Amino acid sequence: MKLDDKLYLVRYNTDKKNHIKLLDPDACLQCEDKPCTRICPAHVYHWDEEEKRISVGYEGCLECGTCRVGCPDNIAWDYPRGGFGVSWKNG
Ligand code: SF4
Ligand code: SF4
Repeated sequence: MKLDDKLYLVRYNTDKKNHIKLLDPDACLQCEDKPCTRICPAHVYHWDEEEKRISVGYEGCLECGTCRVGCPDNIAWDYPRGGFGVSWKNG
């Protein structure tokens, strides 16, 4: 089974409160290879070329913690509030 197919099986209880913040969105302009767009298995980070900014689809976060290691200076990540986030997976 491909990763994208497995991701389809993950279920979430999405919080309205975003648990991922970019501390300085303008710093992303200077970030050459934008590793957040490659290291997140859930493709939460996307470079919007038109808007010249990183968009964060926090709703799909798998809570693996990779991004806060990959970009500790600009990504402020915490677990979603209790009862929210990844709820169960079936694959
Ligand atoms: S969030 Fe971090 S890794 Fe991603 S573009 Fe901005 S500075 Fe670079
Ligand atoms: S914690 Fe993992 S799944 Fe969530 S945004 Fe960071 S890298 Fe992506």
